Amino acid sequence: MEYARSVRKMRNRLRLKKEYIAPTMAAILLLVILLAILFVTFEMHHECEGENCPTCELIIKCNRFIKEISSSILIITIIAIVFFINYYKETFSQTEYIKKESLVSLNIKLLN
Ligand SMILES: [Zn+2]
Repeated sequence: MEYARSVRKMRNRLRLKKEYIAPTMAAILLLVILLAILFVTFEMHHECEGENCPTCELIIKCNRFIKEISSSILIITIIAIVFFINYYKETFSQTEYIKKESLVSLNIKLLN
């Protein structure tokens, strides 16, 4: 009984961690993409120093990053679908586990 409770607590903690990791990673990725787009937009007409301009180099890097991210959006979508399928599989398996427990299955007598 005590062992089952501790196992259930551990599962819930792990599930909570998994629930927060994916949205946090997605939010960070989205933020980085937005910052790259904003930087390119605002610095497009900067006062260029000519060759070896650090702003131009950063704009080129941001453009390259945005291109790579947009080309890999299919891979990211597939990974997200796999994560969601795993999440729902675990949720349904835990629901079945909870349904199996009853007073009869736990051998608890209500004598009052
Ligand atoms: Zn420049």
